Amino acid sequence: MKIEYAYDVEHVKTREKDYIYINYRKTNTHDVLGYFIFLNTVVGVKVEKITTRRLWMLENKFMLRLHDLIHSQLIGTNGTHIQSLINLEEICNGCEKCSNIAKKCLEYGPLRFSTLQTMTYSKNYKKLHVTDKLFEDIAEYCISKSKNKEECFKELDNTILSNISCDKLAIWVNESKVLPDEDTDPMFDHRHMPREVIDIILRKWNVKSLKLSMLHITNEQMCCIEWLRYDYFIRVRLNDPYWETKHSDLKFDHVEVSLSYSLDCVRGLGNLPLETNPPAGYNNFIPNIRRMFPTDQISMELPHWYFVPRIDIEKKMSTILQVVTMEQHQNLSLDIKFFVNIGIVKMLNEETNKEELLGIASGYVLQEKRLHCFKKSSPFNAEHGPEVFLDNKWMGRRFQVEHAENRFNFNLDVYIKEKELEEKFDKKLLQDNPNSFVRHFFA
Ligand SMILES: [Zn+2]
Ligand SMILES: [Zn+2]
Repeated sequence: MKIEYAYDVEHVKTREKDYIYINYRKTNTHDVLGYFIFLNTVVGVKVEKITTRRLWMLENKFMLRLHDLIHSQLIGTNGTHIQSLINLEEICNGCEKCSNIAKKCLEYGPLRFSTLQTMTYSKNYKKLHVTDKLFEDIAEYCISKSKNKEECFKELDNTILSNISCDKLAIWVNESKVLPDEDTDPMFDHRHMPREVIDIILRKWNVKSLKLSMLHITNEQMCCIEWLRYDYFIRVRLNDPYWETKHSDLKFDHVEVSLSYSLDCVRGLGNLPLETNPPAGYNNFIPNIRRMFPTDQISMELPHWYFVPRIDIEKKMSTILQVVTMEQHQNLSLDIKFFVNIGIVKMLNEETNKEELLGIASGYVLQEKRLHCFKKSSPFNAEHGPEVFLDNKWMGRRFQVEHAENRFNFNLDVYIKEKELEEKFDKKLLQDNPNSFVRHFFA
């Protein structure tokens, strides 16, 4: 079950506060209790999975009430049926009700520090979620409990316990954190994480694979700065120059990167360093992942609902290739899902004043395989939002780059909405441009 405060990035401030989305359907805040009771008594559903998103953006009073309703009506005090509870602590910042449920779930988080402290039991989680803020909180807690570096690391060892293990660790990274004293234009460049905290979690929890989610906004907007006043912890950022990042000796099956809700990282991947202002260094992203979370398999998903590229597919594909091969990778299989607007396939020739179709960037080889996927999205009419978020079908083609000698394989899966291909595309253009990129979507 999904309970979300969806909004349109351009209308965050003016969006009316009196509705949320439950399973992608608009629900008035006054109707939520009735709906939960209906599910509970009439339908008799046993809710196994609950994911909430951005409920902290709701009006405070209703937000707290919703937290309690989710517990009382959907989960129940015993939490008999619940298996997965995601993101509810965003509202309460980690309460007793939530930490009690954490004990019963297979998938849980992101954990606030107070919940982490209750996890003294033995348990193997399928998936645990944490935020970059938790890393800072752990570092600051250990510093506050100690007089020197040695004591601090002893405290760290006592804080992260190996009675907990998780198959997959999901790390939520806030891209737009600011320093408390930063009243000038934020540079969106403050995401230092204490490296030793990350490493000990990966080691002691016996993490097998990872998911990194880059988020353009969360309710943890403020950086902690106390730990930065001590030189105990190594500071890492995913956009730091990669040659300065130490290689971890751990190994992971797979690292999955979600850029679906990213603004800065995504811009860094699709543009060369000199083209972003300020240069944010996100071209260091993949090399840093391979140093901090060594793996032979990385998959990335780019946004499908906003910041979808609109111009020049040829240039975008060629830039992405340059960025992902900036470091020569050995033994890496990299998959990127890339969602684009139909407008990206053509350009206006200024001399002839005619539209022309763009080709495939050099270096890529088209694969026979045809792909498709479904994504929820609907146009957001400003403050009111759509009644329901609908499934859209996206058609994809795979473009491959292979460096056999280095065992490097890169698949760029480019997706265009089926509806845009059918409705917004002038098919006569295809005949005039036989070598175009978009032809392969029709062939
Ligand atoms: Zn709670
Ligand atoms: Zn910072």
